[in-house]
Amino acid sequence: MKFHYRDLWVPQTATPDQIKSAYRKLARECHPDHTANPDAARFLLIGEAYQTLSDEAARRAYDAELQTYLRRRGWVLCPACGAHNEVPRIPESKIAMCGRCRTALPVTEKERRETQTAALREQAIDVVAELGADLLDLTGDYLHRRLQGVRARIGASTRKGAR
Ligand SMILES: [Zn+2]
Repeated sequence: MKFHYRDLWVPQTATPDQIKSAYRKLARECHPDHTANPDAARFLLIGEAYQTLSDEAARRAYDAELQTYLRRRGWVLCPACGAHNEVPRIPESKIAMCGRCRTALPVTEKERRETQTAALREQAIDVVAELGADLLDLTGDYLHRRLQGVRARIGASTRKGAR
């Protein structure tokens, strides 16, 4: 999964203008023409992020994919810098904060628990589905061998009876 919002350091709610100016600022910081320490990998990363987020349809598709990805893990995107956060239990009278920029995350302990439970349930469904498929394969294979054995015996006794 790519984290385009994090890479451009913008919230998921960023407007196209905000995305464009964030990209321009970051691109200048790592472009070989503008800095003594160019960072080609980072330049490519933010270029890719900008390409996706500046295209309305591509951004919509990416948002849907990202939402599913985060939900399945119970992670929360920072409303300031777009970083994904795995939120541990939030003690009473405390708030969850972004590990990257220390902005408060819009999640309560109750919401966190509900999201985590839902995420675990989805993971469990995946595991069962996978296991189920394996069991089915095993059973299919096993049954097939057993049937062959039975057929061979029937065949043998039929031949014996015909004699
Ligand atoms: Zn943050």
